[in-house]
Amino acid sequence: MINWGYWEVTTLESSYQQSLADLWGKGTPADQASPEEQLARLEARCLECHRCPLRAGCRQVVFGEGGHGSRLMLVGEGPGAEEDRLGKPFVGAAGQLLGRILEAVQIEREELYITNIVKCRPPSNRNPNSAEIAECLPYLHRQIELLDPLVIVCMGAVATRTLIGGSASITRLRGQWQEKEGRQLMPTFHPAALLRDPRKKRPVWEDFQEVAGRFRRLLGQETGDG
Ligand code: SF4
Repeated sequence: MINWGYWEVTTLESSYQQSLADLWGKGTPADQASPEEQLARLEARCLECHRCPLRAGCRQVVFGEGGHGSRLMLVGEGPGAEEDRLGKPFVGAAGQLLGRILEAVQIEREELYITNIVKCRPPSNRNPNSAEIAECLPYLHRQIELLDPLVIVCMGAVATRTLIGGSASITRLRGQWQEKEGRQLMPTFHPAALLRDPRKKRPVWEDFQEVAGRFRRLLGQETGDG
């Protein structure tokens, strides 16, 4: 059985490897384009994507948002209704709440790149299924390669299971740093869960304080300011 952890998938799932090759010619001579150009090209490709049935039921693909050079990445599970309407991630009520949390821990929206596990809205906001995730994961994989984030925040159970793997629940894992391939991953609740259960606000706020602290420290080490 496939472990849907991002790094495990990349090594275990052969159709996934084929997807990588199909999408951007992996295994061909090194691309001379800058990472920024490659990201723009990947986005253009993603916006035309019909690799899974989710595209037929949504208005548009929501690729992600943030500047190239943003070394903090936030990953949710999939676009909601407002995101689907506007073509931008985290612009609905959950996104506004996330914005207030980021403001409280003094992370500027320009500092981060924000995206989802699947780029098309699942019907009625259900969780994406394994097949849909497998089809869409090469985009996220490539976004991670090109943006090279120091810290990735996995927001919610789907993002946590997909990027970290294992079967542990988000309730048990949240707030505990994980390390994968030299990157720091922080699992936390999805902002939409806070709208349903305000008792989750404090732990998430604490998680983002942790994230802000570690991100600043790692960035400082890289730039020689730490
Ligand atoms: S969810 Fe991902 S794989 Fe499926 S159609 Fe949209 S972009 Fe393509």
